[in-house]
Amino acid sequence: MPEGGPVPQRMVIGILGPPGCGKGTQSERIQRTFHFAHLSSGGILRDEIRQQTPLGRLAGELMSHGNLVPDPVINEVMVRRLKSTIDHGDGVLLDGYPRTVPQLRHLIGKLEAWAVPLNAMLYLQIDDDSLVERLTGRRICGTCGAVYHLLDLPPTVPNRCDKCNGELIIRPDDAVDAIRERMRVYHNETEPILAEMQKEHYFYRIPAEGNPETVFHHIRQVLEPLMHGSPSTL
Ligand SMILES: [Zn+2]
Repeated sequence: MPEGGPVPQRMVIGILGPPGCGKGTQSERIQRTFHFAHLSSGGILRDEIRQQTPLGRLAGELMSHGNLVPDPVINEVMVRRLKSTIDHGDGVLLDGYPRTVPQLRHLIGKLEAWAVPLNAMLYLQIDDDSLVERLTGRRICGTCGAVYHLLDLPPTVPNRCDKCNGELIIRPDDAVDAIRERMRVYHNETEPILAEMQKEHYFYRIPAEGNPETVFHHIRQVLEPLMHGSPSTL
């Protein structure tokens, strides 16, 4: 029996979805509402690089030459952070990890060894045309970098920044061809891990077409029953 009273509820969930699906917004809301520790692979790698840890130096070196950080390095960095967060008694929201089948298998193996369940992987599903529509509406101030959206967050004066009156431009990444290419790359990269997760009890598709409020409502419907110990039937 563990000492020191009851073991806190240790939930581990993950979130994934294509660029522009609203993953950042939803992660924030999950974190705020349910008090999960937010472990984002990008943020943690940047931390390691900033702190010049041995793994951080290796990752920084690879990235500065335009190389991907290999699975074993990502696994080690993420699993170490995951373990210390779980030991601390916090629930965990994984973001950007696992991204490949080897990462997923490594994670599952570790969780099994610690007897900690993977409670949910939330896949924010949205079709490519909706994503293109969403992303092509994005405008950035060429002067101060403020972000607008033609539909969701239009500037007061068309094409002018509310803050500095600078001209609004389309980021090269947000041009239609570039977006289509990002979608293609994303689907190629994630198809194998989606195929592997789809048959698992922890996999949930979240319809991500609607506004952030609606999407978060779907997420709540999955997470709340899990917190009370009965799996959602969504
Ligand atoms: Zn501006």
